[in-house]
Amino acid sequence: VFFHNYQSRAINVRMAEISNQFRIIANHLVTNNYLQDMSSEAINAELEQLSNLYDGRVLIINGNFKVMKDTYGISEGKTIISEEVIRCFRGQDSSRYNKEEGYIEMTIPIGENTTENWNVGEAELLEEQNPVKGVMLTSVSTDGIAMTSSVLSRRGFLVELLMGIVIVGMSLGISYLLIKPFSKVTKAIGEVREGLRTDALSVPDYEETEHIVTAFNQVLSRMRVLDESRQEFVSNVSHELKTPLTSMKVLADSLLMQEDVPLELYQEFMADIAAEIDRENKIITDLLSLVKLDKTKGELNISAVDINELLELIMKRLRPIAAKQDVELTLESVRPVTAEVDEVKLTLAFSNLVENAVKYNREHGFVHVTVDADHQFFTLQVADSGIGIPESDYEHIFERFYRVDKSHSREIGGTGLGLAITRSVILMHRGAISVQSKEGEGTTFTVRIPLNYQSN
Ligand code: ADP
Repeated sequence: VFFHNYQSRAINVRMAEISNQFRIIANHLVTNNYLQDMSSEAINAELEQLSNLYDGRVLIINGNFKVMKDTYGISEGKTIISEEVIRCFRGQDSSRYNKEEGYIEMTIPIGENTTENWNVGEAELLEEQNPVKGVMLTSVSTDGIAMTSSVLSRRGFLVELLMGIVIVGMSLGISYLLIKPFSKVTKAIGEVREGLRTDALSVPDYEETEHIVTAFNQVLSRMRVLDESRQEFVSNVSHELKTPLTSMKVLADSLLMQEDVPLELYQEFMADIAAEIDRENKIITDLLSLVKLDKTKGELNISAVDINELLELIMKRLRPIAAKQDVELTLESVRPVTAEVDEVKLTLAFSNLVENAVKYNREHGFVHVTVDADHQFFTLQVADSGIGIPESDYEHIFERFYRVDKSHSREIGGTGLGLAITRSVILMHRGAISVQSKEGEGTTFTVRIPLNYQSN
């Protein structure tokens, strides 16, 4: 665009320049009456000079279209009738740029008004007393302009090439700088993946990487928490499973080490071993229930269940155990309740609550179970007169293997998994569980579950 503009501007300037110069000469021609007398040395010299200056040819044509003067000396005496010449005699100047051949052709009228601009109408009106006595036909080479622009375009190409190289270089440099922090992030994430680092990442180079790094660190810390809880769970499971085995080993060893073991002692130890086997069995059963709940998260076998009846059955099953400890077990059904629940899982959850209320009770105590409902939810309350739970333990009792008093819980056959199972089942039903307790006085667990199952 730049060179094209330069070229057309240079041509225009050249045309204006030539037009001015030749008009001046045209005036001189008129003043010196050159068309009648061509002997003026001064004018001839002037024409030669201009012709040389602009590297061009000048033809002077008189009223009979005859070439009076040709600075090349070729066409003198010949007749030239061309459109441009005729138009010029009518007072219309013409100028034309021939790009292919590289010259400008121009006709300039020789007459009284050569310095004024004519327009067509006037020219026609004045045809009779036409003041145009002759025409000056010039053709001027534009090779100089073409050469300059070719030199410029060659230089321009070099500049463009240089600029291109600089721009590409700068782009590469800048993109390298921009991408560098992201490469750092990728490298750091790679290290985490390979397990080479566990600490939080920090790539504070700019905001975008900060966002990615913050999000990644959050994921990392979540993974860490999950990993810790998994490790804790595995170590708890191993510990819990090992305890009954250790007891059994001790009992068996002490029997083996003694000679002539009395039958009563033998029977007593074997009964203890059997009890430990039962315990081991219960832990494994509870663990399997939990794992199954985790695996089938959200998979419930929903049906409309009569909750009052379900609780009646639980009470019936647990009454003998309660009777053993002389604990009174009562069920109060405020109203009949039917809800969309998974019967098997909910039986497991509610049994754990009532069983705990019996287990952690005192002698001659009571367990009071109440079931009620409003138009949206049903509630179950399991209140006991037992040993109670310290407030600081409320948030932990639902964790796997957590027991307020480990030895007491073990003594009475607890695994520490019951409440974890209960809570998991209740949450699967989009319900909630809460606990209220007073140490030494008793505990109340309250469960709230929607009557209609909400799948999401
Ligand atoms: P466990 O098998 O030991 O009973 P749970 O998960 O059922 O395990 O209960 C966790 C702990 O919460 C128990 O060890 C016990 O300390 C406490 N707990 C649960 N229910 C009661 C209750 N009704 N009264 C007093 N303490 C309770």
